[in-house]
Amino acid sequence: GQTALTNFDPLEVIGSGSFGLIRKVRRKTDGKVLARKEIDYRKMSDREKRQLVAEVNILRELRHPHIVRYYERYVDRDNCLIYIIMEYCEGGDLSSVIKRCRKESRTIPEPVVWSLVTQLLLALCECHHPPPKRSGTPRAVVLHRDIKPDNVFLDAEQNIKLGDFGLSRVMDDPDTQFARTYVGTPFYMSPELVNEAQYNTKSDIWSLGCLVYEMCALEPPFQAKSQSGLAAKIKLGKIPEIPKCYSNELRNAIKSMLQVNHAKRPTAVELLKLDRIQICLAQRD
Ligand code: ADP
Ligand code: MG
Repeated sequence: GQTALTNFDPLEVIGSGSFGLIRKVRRKTDGKVLARKEIDYRKMSDREKRQLVAEVNILRELRHPHIVRYYERYVDRDNCLIYIIMEYCEGGDLSSVIKRCRKESRTIPEPVVWSLVTQLLLALCECHHPPPKRSGTPRAVVLHRDIKPDNVFLDAEQNIKLGDFGLSRVMDDPDTQFARTYVGTPFYMSPELVNEAQYNTKSDIWSLGCLVYEMCALEPPFQAKSQSGLAAKIKLGKIPEIPKCYSNELRNAIKSMLQVNHAKRPTAVELLKLDRIQICLAQRD
């Protein structure tokens, strides 16, 4: 209601989303700085509105140190806006880190790459392999569907926070089962999506493979001037070399995630078993 609207002082705009602005806000009660995403629902169909409600419901259930924390939502009916209050990630997003490195001709050090991958895998595990709830039935499997550098945020301590679940789907929701149309970034689109098959957890793994590749090479693995050219390269799955400074272990991890046959790609749980990732996990505590 109106009270929720006046609970926050608006600060500067930090990004512009596909549906509206993302702004820094200060909670009046305790001065805590948060991020507020505003979504204009004026042009949305009833189906889209239901989808939006479903997405917000997914978000509020995902509580994980490497997933952007959702706090609350409120509706401003006068202006047809839905506000989503979430954790503010002051480190920006991974796309600016990659851009900066490319500009300065620097590579991301391999231990940093492994640490970022580990954190992303922990976040994906939470989505793909929901932990059993004390109350009984486990939460549904969540597919992110839009893993890319702009949707991976960093906090003040360089911790990764997977965010922008705007395109994510609950896998067993019959209403969205057939929502096959890919709306994300085509660069990271998986071969099964190119072939208009069902999106699945392994499609997120493919996108993660593209992301890890890009952290090393500072450019996406598959690039083309046209959509059809890109689709052809994705279906072929020929991965260009990453810089020589990176280990074969990293090279092989990327290759395993970028297998054209999705059944052959490892799960997030399997990837967490890699030696280098186990070392990262051991260093965490
Ligand atoms: P969209 O659905 O339009 O892609 P995003 O949620 O990805 O919207 O937000 C767009 C941009 O806004 C991000 O790339 C990021 O730079 C910034 N942003 C979004 N959420 C946050 C947040 N919680 N903390 C800091 N920056 C954010
Ligand atoms: Mg985004």
